[in-house]
Amino acid sequence: MTSVERRAALEAIATEVRTCTRCRLAAGRTNAVPGEGSPDTEVVLIGEAPGFNEDRLGRPFIGRAGDLLVKLLGSIEWRRDDVFITNVVKCRPPDNRDPEPDEVVACAPYLKRQLEVLDPALIVTLGRHSMGRFMPGARISQAHGTTAPVDPASGARDATVFAMYHPAAALRGAEVERQSFEDVGRAPQVLLDSRARRASTAPGTRTDRGPAPGAEAEPQPELVPALALAAEPVTDAAADLTIF
Ligand code: URA
Ligand code: SF4
Repeated sequence: MTSVERRAALEAIATEVRTCTRCRLAAGRTNAVPGEGSPDTEVVLIGEAPGFNEDRLGRPFIGRAGDLLVKLLGSIEWRRDDVFITNVVKCRPPDNRDPEPDEVVACAPYLKRQLEVLDPALIVTLGRHSMGRFMPGARISQAHGTTAPVDPASGARDATVFAMYHPAAALRGAEVERQSFEDVGRAPQVLLDSRARRASTAPGTRTDRGPAPGAEAEPQPELVPALALAAEPVTDAAADLTIF
C-alpha cells in the first residue's frame, strides 16, 4: 500500500466510526473518536476510550492525559504527529466508566482494520485495558516497560507490543509518572529491535514505507543512522532516532 492509499483507507475507517451504531456507546457520544496520526508511521499508541474532552472534539488524548502523553513522547523526541494514536473503543463511555466487554467486542473490527492498514512495527498500549488486548493475562504492575510479540490476528501482521501505564494513572501518582518516563525511554530501542526483526524475516518490508513502485526513488537517510544505532545504549537511541 502506498502512503496515499493508507491515508484514504484510514479516512474510510474513520468515516464509518463517526456514524457507527454497533454498540450502546453510540447513544451517549457527542463525537466518535476514530484516532489520528501519520499514515506512514511505524508506531501505534492505543488507549482505552475517549474521555470528556476527546468526546467534545472527536480527537484522541487531548485533555490532561494527552498533555502528559505528549511530554512522554517529547522526552524521546517523538512528536504526536509522527505516531498514530487511537483507543480500544472509539466512543466515550458514560461517566468515563470502563468499557463493557460487549462494547470492546463490537468496536474491535475498527482497531483491527486500522492495524491492518498501518502494519506497525511497534504497538504501545496505554493502560491495562489496552494491554489486555495484546498481552492476555498480564498484570500492568509487572508488564509495564516490557514487550511481547503481537498476535497477527490483532490485524498487526508483525509487530512488537510495549506496555505502558495509562497517562491518567501517571497524573494520579508521582511514582507511576516517574516509571512512565523511564518506560518510554526504552521505546526507541524496542522499535529498532522490531524493525530489525521485520527486516530479517521479510526483507524489503520497509520499502513499503517508501515511494510507490514506479515513483522516483527518494533517499531515506534516516533509516541508516537509525539502524546503526541498534548497538548503541538506549539513551543515545532515544536522542537521535527518527521513527518513520
Ligand atoms: N484516555 C484514553 O484512554 N483515551 C483518550 O483518548 C483520552 C484519555
Ligand atoms: Fe461503534 Fe465503537 Fe462507537 Fe460502539 S464504541 S458505537 S462499536 S464506534
